[in-house]
Amino acid sequence: MSRPCVFLDRDGVINEKAPPGEYIRNWKEFRFLPNVSDWIRIFNALGYLVIVVTNQRGIARGMVSQADTDELHSKMVRELSERGARIDDIFLCPHEEDTCNCRKPRPGLVLQAREKWDIDLGRSLMIGDSARDEALAAACGIRFLRADGAGRLV
Ligand SMILES: [Mg+2]
Ligand SMILES: [Zn+2]
Repeated sequence: MSRPCVFLDRDGVINEKAPPGEYIRNWKEFRFLPNVSDWIRIFNALGYLVIVVTNQRGIARGMVSQADTDELHSKMVRELSERGARIDDIFLCPHEEDTCNCRKPRPGLVLQAREKWDIDLGRSLMIGDSARDEALAAACGIRFLRADGAGRLV
């Protein structure tokens, strides 16, 4: 049976985003925003899948390595898990603008997740801090909540 999902953007929702034009390059630069593990625990307890969907164009630009990003994500998942919060999956777009079908607001990441996890988009939720996230949610029929980049919803 299809399951509902909470799609989380990464930078500005789970962690502090980098200054404009910069990227979070590795685990040393990664800072959790407050209370993220508490939110995720609530979504877990309600039976939602919790899936991260993130644009990481810095990889295409050679400013961030795929290996450092993979390590960052495994440490992020492990640290959340130690706080009792489960991330089910992470879908990432490493591409440059207008070169793929997965850079948000294009729907590729959500469609990949739906295919793999049998997600009911109509009962799902997206939390993001940008217009790209909001446009993606609207295009996919997913409810949307806007984060302010500092750990609150607006
Ligand atoms: Mg963001
Ligand atoms: Zn892409």
